[in-house]
Amino acid sequence: MNLLYEGKAKKIFETENPQVVLMEFKDSLTAFNAQKKGSFTGKGKLNRDIASLIFFRLKEAGVESHFIENVGSNSMKTKKVEIIPLEVVVRNILAGSTAKKMGRDEGEVLPFPLVEFYFKKDELNDPFISDDQAIAFEIADRKTLEELKVKALKINEVLKKMFELMNIKLVDFKVEFGRTTKGDILLADEITPDCCRLWDINTGEKMDKDRFRRDLGDIDKFYHEVLNRLQKLQMIKSDQLR
Ligand code: UDP
Repeated sequence: MNLLYEGKAKKIFETENPQVVLMEFKDSLTAFNAQKKGSFTGKGKLNRDIASLIFFRLKEAGVESHFIENVGSNSMKTKKVEIIPLEVVVRNILAGSTAKKMGRDEGEVLPFPLVEFYFKKDELNDPFISDDQAIAFEIADRKTLEELKVKALKINEVLKKMFELMNIKLVDFKVEFGRTTKGDILLADEITPDCCRLWDINTGEKMDKDRFRRDLGDIDKFYHEVLNRLQKLQMIKSDQLR
């Protein structure tokens, strides 16, 4: 199969169907725009399994994504989309560089979920951009930005409830969207502990990529735990997430 693209944590292959691609999750792990590199065996499979369960849950709740079906141990078939070059971040609780930037402590509950856009460009370190900048530099028009915000907030509502049922606080996360040839905007890329901050409600322990960023150890144990709790959630009725 022809490799179309290789990123830091995934490879995208062509399939026999021009509308469909194969997304392979790698075992590698990077942080700080790939200045810090690592990996652990089985990470690709864990993230593939986590992402597919989340896409499945989101679909039940009415959020369409590019996900079609799982293939093999660490890949999934997805609808081919053109990625909109914006990283859409939603924050429920203050953490990371934003806490630092504002001179406040991590863990502060925000008065409402914040939606932010970052320009997806590795050479520039994915800078934060305003709505006007996104429009002026023709990254997306105003209508698209509004649609992305509505979709990101809906995803946040569903995921927040889902993780709460798993005894996990959804602190913040990053999503990406893509356009189909028909022009529809779909949730794309992945939702995994690589791009979310997840804190255990009882212990406060971090269950996400901050374990790698901050050298906290046991990253595989916590990614496994996220998957275990997601699998247990299968019992819960989907209407609880709507
Ligand atoms: N995030 C991501 N990819 C990026 C930047 C951020 O997945 O390139 C995720 C990150 O894991 C966190 C959320 O987006 O869950 C918000 O990240 P933040 O902007 O606070 O990044 P920090 O600089 O603190 O790592």
